[in-house]
Amino acid sequence: MEDKKFNPFKMAQQQFDGVAEKLGLDEATRELLRNPLREYHFSIPVKMDDGSVRVFRGFRVQHNDARGPAKGGIRFHPQETADTVRALATWMTWKCAVVDIPLGGGKGGVICDPHNLSMREQEQICRGWVRQIARNVGPLSDVPAPDVMTTGQHMLWMLDEYETIHGAKYPGFITGKPVGMGGSLGRTQATGYGVMFTVREALKQMNIDPKNTTASVQGFGNVAQYAIELYTKLGGKVICVSSWDQKDQTSYAFKRDSGIDLQELLSITDKFGGIDKEKATQKGYEVLPGKVWIEQEVDILVPAALENQITAETVQKINPKVKLIAEGANGPTVPEADAIIKERGIFVIPDFLCNAGGVTCSYFEQVQCNMNYYWELEEVLQKLDIKMTSAFLSVYELAKKKNLYMRDAAYMIAIDRVAKAVKARGWV
Ligand code: GLU
Repeated sequence: MEDKKFNPFKMAQQQFDGVAEKLGLDEATRELLRNPLREYHFSIPVKMDDGSVRVFRGFRVQHNDARGPAKGGIRFHPQETADTVRALATWMTWKCAVVDIPLGGGKGGVICDPHNLSMREQEQICRGWVRQIARNVGPLSDVPAPDVMTTGQHMLWMLDEYETIHGAKYPGFITGKPVGMGGSLGRTQATGYGVMFTVREALKQMNIDPKNTTASVQGFGNVAQYAIELYTKLGGKVICVSSWDQKDQTSYAFKRDSGIDLQELLSITDKFGGIDKEKATQKGYEVLPGKVWIEQEVDILVPAALENQITAETVQKINPKVKLIAEGANGPTVPEADAIIKERGIFVIPDFLCNAGGVTCSYFEQVQCNMNYYWELEEVLQKLDIKMTSAFLSVYELAKKKNLYMRDAAYMIAIDRVAKAVKARGWV
């Protein structure tokens, strides 16, 4: 999002067009799937703590719901745009399809910076967002969830507002709720763990023992933290991680050749994933400019921050030793960079497959809400592993059989499933 010219929705459409051509989709199906079905833009007036009123812009985009209710997170970000939300909604459709869960794709957002908002102000934004859209979302039509800078607490405020408006309990309206308040055990870990389930499978196919690998991670939010946790459990060593520094409005990389210690870094991290530079230095980390995460001499790169990070320029910095890129973020790699990665023969686990663990666990959360019976953590994680592993293997098998790039294979499976659904429903 640093580059003003970068348009993630154009990127999502470009990716779609290429695959639509390969699949030989008819014109009407292409027209339908390259654009969202519906979108809502609205204003959210909020009385601030100082008594003034500020008006925030909110969005919800429902890209496609042929396979089930639209599904996807709500992002709070100062640089949020309608096109970012459109792109993310589109990727949600492919994400739910590639892991074969009965959901479509949607995404929401609010242009705001939670770093500068009190909890009360954030609560008002959450409630205001729901008030504007309450009639157009719901457990049977469109189910939101957390995303960048939103948490279980935000989801619970949103649920509370929704239930107040509709006058009944609808725990299936939103996922990523706190455990004990309709949330699922494992939802917090799910995206990061899912990333590493796919990495584990990819390494298996490449005949590489995770114990002999190193990684560099971009980002230190929810996805990155749990990806690091599981990767470390698998025996891998993360030597570099970057995180956003709110005060300096830039990111820093924290590097230690003997490996980073997740718990140690967490103990000096604020709630947005910002790591304290001074304390990190005392603990033996080198503090470097954030952009160096990509040039590390490691086996695995894990972009787990925002879109538009591996660009035509930064891709040149990828070390020749890198064998695998696991895209924990949504849309981290722009098409120009993707073409170079493909040419270099680096194995890529594409974003909408790699980070699908979050929405898969959201689906489990909905199932548990419907039953009003909640599984143990182990059961959730086991089911998550099965889903992620089988989705990875289907994509991998297709890529191998047809000699396709992993991203193209994943897109072919996902888009084909959605195209068949719109056809079967008689929409086109
Ligand atoms: N925001 C997450 C994503 O981008 C999860 C969405 C969900 O659980 O619905 O996949």
